[in-house]
Order: sequence, then C-alpha cells, then structure tokens
Amino acid sequence: MDLTYTAADLAFRDGVRAFLDANLPSDLQKKVRNHLRLSRQDYVRWHQIVARQGWAAPAWPVEYGGTGWTPTQRHIWEEECARAGTPPILPFGVNMVAPVIMAFGNQAQKAHYLPRILNCDDWWCQGYSEPGSGSDLASLKTSAERVGEYYIVNGQKTWTTLAQHADMIFCLVRTDNTARKQEGISFLLIDMKSPGITVRPIVMLDEDHEVNEVFFDNVKVPVLNLIGQENKGWTYAKYLLGHERTGITAVGRSKRELLFLKKLASEHYKHGKPLMQDPVFAAKVASLEIDLMALETTVLRVITRESHAPGPEASMLKVRGSEIQQQLTELMVEALGPDALPFDTDYLEGKADHAVTGDDAGAPLTAYYFNFRKTSIYGGSNEIQKNIITQMILGL
Ligand SMILES: Cc1cc2nc3c(=O)[nH]c(=O)nc-3n(C[C@H](O)[C@H](O)[C@H](O)COP(=O)(O)OP(=O)(O)OC[C@H]3O[C@@H](n4cnc5c(N)ncnc54)[C@H](O)[C@@H]3O)c2cc1C
Repeated sequence: MDLTYTAADLAFRDGVRAFLDANLPSDLQKKVRNHLRLSRQDYVRWHQIVARQGWAAPAWPVEYGGTGWTPTQRHIWEEECARAGTPPILPFGVNMVAPVIMAFGNQAQKAHYLPRILNCDDWWCQGYSEPGSGSDLASLKTSAERVGEYYIVNGQKTWTTLAQHADMIFCLVRTDNTARKQEGISFLLIDMKSPGITVRPIVMLDEDHEVNEVFFDNVKVPVLNLIGQENKGWTYAKYLLGHERTGITAVGRSKRELLFLKKLASEHYKHGKPLMQDPVFAAKVASLEIDLMALETTVLRVITRESHAPGPEASMLKVRGSEIQQQLTELMVEALGPDALPFDTDYLEGKADHAVTGDDAGAPLTAYYFNFRKTSIYGGSNEIQKNIITQMILGL
C-alpha cells in the first residue's frame, strides 16, 4: 500500500491550509488549542463559516451539498482542521442523523432537514441511551403510542450530549412491546420545543455541563417525523452507529495533542532538566507516538477500502483512538504535576483572560484529563467494541 500523498493531494492540502489560515477566527483557535470550553455560538459560528465555503459535509453526496472529495481528500481536510485547531463540526446532525435521513427518510424529510443540517440552522442531539439501556440499547423503554396522526412519547433519555442547546433530537422509541425487543423500535425526529420535554443537566467530573437527562411527558410528535417504517428503527440505529465510531478515532487531534505534550514536557523541568530529557518520560511519549503512527496507518488502510458504510473495523479504530486520547491526557497531567491541579472555571469558560496559576497552557489540563474518561464509554463502550471485534473480525 502506498501511503504517500499524490501531487494533486498535496495541492489540495495547500488549498485547505490557505482556507484555514484566512478563515479560522483566532479567538476560536486559541480556545481549541488551549483546551478551553466552547459555547454554542462558537460551534455554530465555525460551522457556518465552513458551510459558506461549501465544505460543511464533505462525505455527503454532491446532490445534497457534499464536496465530491475522495476519501483521501476528506482525510486531509480533517487532519488540517485538527492541526489548525478548529472547533469540531458536531457529528449529531452532519454525520449521524443526516446519513440516516438520506438512506431511509422520505423526499419531504430530505428536502426539509438536510439543508438545515448543512447550514447548522438546527442543532441536533442524539436520544438513544436511557437509564438501564446503554450497552443493552435494544432494551430501551421510551414509548411512542400512535394516536391518529401523532405519536405520544413518554419516557427518559440520558447522557444526551449538549441537549441544552438543541433544536431537534433524533430518538429511538418503542412502538411495539409485544415483538422481539429489536423489532419494536422506531426512529423519530422530535422538536425540542415540543410541550412536555424537560432537559435536566448532568455536570461531569470536569465540572462542565456537557450532558443531560431528557424527559418526555406526553409529547405529541407528528407521524410525519417517523423515519422509514414503524418498528424498523433498529436497522437505522445500527447504520448510524458505524458512522459514530469512525468519527471518534480523531487521529488528527491526537497528533496536535502529541505536539502540545512534547512542548509542555520541554518547558517543564525535573531535577533541573526539561522533562522531555527524562528517559522514562521520553520513553512513554515515544511509545505513545508509535501507537499513534500505527493507528494513523490503520485509518488510512480503512479509508482506501471505504466505498461502503464502515464495518466492524470501526470498532477497532474506536478502541485504539480512545485509548490513545486518554493516554495523551494522562501524560499531560503527569508532565505538569501539581501545576495541573486547579479547576479554574472562569478561565475555562473564557470569563478570565488568564489562569489563576499564571500557567495558561497547564491550568485546563486536569479538567481535560477528567473529560476524556468519556471516550472509552461513549459511542458504545470499549468492552462492547471488543466483543464486536472478537465476533466479527476474529470470528471467535
Ligand atoms: C460523555 C458522554 C456522552 C454521551 N452522549 C450520548 C448522547 O449524546 N446520546 C446518547 O444516546 N448516549 C450518549 N452517551 C451514552 C453512551 O452511549 C453510554 O454511556 C454507553 O453506551 C454505555 O452505556 P451505559 O452508560 O448505560 O453503561 P452500561 O451499559 O451499564 O455498562 C456499564 C459497564 O459494563 C460494561 N458492559 C456492559 N455490557 C457488557 C458486555 N456485554 N460485555 C462486556 N462488558 C459490558 C460496559 O463496558 C461498562 O464498562 C454518552 C455517554 C457519555 C459518557
């Protein structure tokens, strides 16, 4: 396999770099590179800058507003965004619900939702997990009972990322209690402003409000918001999860964080010498770098074969990607020692220009470390991914 870029790919990369140099606002770049928290407005602002360029959904078919880029060009775009330090284009709309709408939605749903997703007119969140139904998702209980031209939805979703900002939620709901559990599930699009929806924050280990509980109390949802056929939602849900797991790998961001770690370890001293010269610490960094290079090669290998929806290899990428992301945050905290201790919420949320410790690069890192414990849980826990790998790849 040839892993070098062609001259055309390199020219494409130069074009992307020029775009990012000219269009990435420096305040957003500073927040991302320094691990500060992004507001709703930050995400939307960047999404709409990219949308104006026509690049907000590179993987979509051109007829819906995609770019027509090759898989390698899409990879270069993601790499360059990560390298520059752009806010992410959140996956819930562009990469999760949109492919489901394209594959299983009707014409009216495509015409209404896809342009709005492309331009970030609607903020989407994902209503899959429930208390007691995470790994065992098919056991979900939130019910949707059909009454005339509406479904009446009752139940609770949990861990719903950034639902406090959302205009729309895509939900798995139970429409048949008598069938085998995978066969009684439907896929509904629900307006978050509907009467009967309550969003309650869950504050995480890093003291950030990133996830929520969402309660449904007799929420009326038009039948027109059903995707595909009633009771076929499990098929659509599985289709979506493959897309979620490939996105979580985040090799580009890990490469940027590796450079950040090396800089940090060059600027912090142990026994009078930069930590990067400590053989034990340097060996840990080198080992992580090797793992990251191996993951990158695997990603490229998967990309070159990807002419279809991602298969079980997405599980492999998710496990290794999340482990590497967590190890990076562990080494950042180890490099800083006591300087990584403070939770400086004002600085993290952009209400103060500098950290109380005076170490602007170091202060957010404990919160960042705590936040990244999530990566081995969300998108299907790593234990579940390993089950998939043993069954679908190793054939055990
Ligand atoms: C930060 C964050 C954001 C999230 N965002 C969303 C969101 O936006 N929308 C959404 O729908 N969900 C979201 N989730 C939920 C996420 O998908 C679930 O947390 C995940 O699927 C695990 O489910 P659970 O938390 O119920 O744990 P459980 O399923 O109860 O698992 C508990 C532990 O048991 C292990 N385990 C369970 N079953 C098995 C098995 N068969 N074999 C081996 N080990 C097993 C798990 O790996 C885990 O370690 C988010 C979660 C987090 C942490």
